[in-house]
Amino acid sequence: MTDSSATAPIEVAAEYFDGRSARAHAVRLRVAGDRLLIEGDHVHRSEPLATLQWPERTRHGARLLHLADGGSLHCRDSLGWDTWSHAAAGRRDSVVVRVQQRWKWVLVSLLVLVGVVALGYDHLLPLAARGVVALLPASADEALGEAALSSIDGAGITKPTTLSVAQQDAVRVAFAQAVSRLPAGDAPAYRLEFRQSTIGPNAFALPGGAMVLTDELYKLVDGDRDILVGVLGHELGHLRHRHGMRMLVQAGVLSAAAGALYGDFSTLFSQIPVLLGQASYSRGFEHEADVDSVRLMKANGISPAVMATFFVKVRQPRPGAKAASAPEVRLPIALASHPADEERIRFFEDAARDR
Ligand SMILES: [Zn+2]
Repeated sequence: MTDSSATAPIEVAAEYFDGRSARAHAVRLRVAGDRLLIEGDHVHRSEPLATLQWPERTRHGARLLHLADGGSLHCRDSLGWDTWSHAAAGRRDSVVVRVQQRWKWVLVSLLVLVGVVALGYDHLLPLAARGVVALLPASADEALGEAALSSIDGAGITKPTTLSVAQQDAVRVAFAQAVSRLPAGDAPAYRLEFRQSTIGPNAFALPGGAMVLTDELYKLVDGDRDILVGVLGHELGHLRHRHGMRMLVQAGVLSAAAGALYGDFSTLFSQIPVLLGQASYSRGFEHEADVDSVRLMKANGISPAVMATFFVKVRQPRPGAKAASAPEVRLPIALASHPADEERIRFFEDAARDR
């Protein structure tokens, strides 16, 4: 007889899948010592707790736990699961608990944001958004970025690249070398993706690290290494400052706050592709990304003047293509569609002189 048995639920019902067949086995889960016991419907397993990957909250609703041998446990009763895992296995500093604590802070921050909106939308909001993003775990960026990329791919905005593997590798290697010359720890994690597109010569970065370079941009600059380092350096700047997330939080602040009140983020998540398509980076974000681009070029002995030349080139109508100023799909996160205005061109020209 122990104190905890009186208050803590020691079992939770779940479904077990063996990873080979689609059959669900009804089981009950219990923690004994340092092992998880899975018992029920022809199943008797005992798994060391240390080998388990406790689930993050992937979606409002079900909890999914993967076992080392490919089997999995599925629980639709998320509240029951969370209570159980906290009580039964909670002495371990599980991912569930840590993530939930983070989310609690996010909720609090979002509520504070509602107050901020009342105080001053224009001035305080970007500042508050930055604070909220700082509290969001990196896994949130990845989840949102992946959702955005698959919705962009799914919407037919992009198609598989037509660049050869050798062409892609040349860009990957050149950029990786360029990034390696930055001070250690100064570059965020990134992943280069190549796509043929309907948005013309373009590049954009998505939260979580995916940077997409279109075939059209590669061809426009003839695979020029210096320009591509400048362009991708700009996108890397957006990643480093988490501009995508900050923009999303700013643009979605009202719905996010509403979601927070209902404890449900799915509303916000479902709006991500829409937000990415409608909102655009502020001039401040663009400038920050340009500063990073210049820093990367200078670390590699590249003159920032190549970017000024590039902007002029990108604005020229291409034979057989629609005018760059009238893309049929708006994707303002992308380079060509932010104003390649005189101010930015001057910035790169000045940076080229200022050695
Ligand atoms: Zn940009």
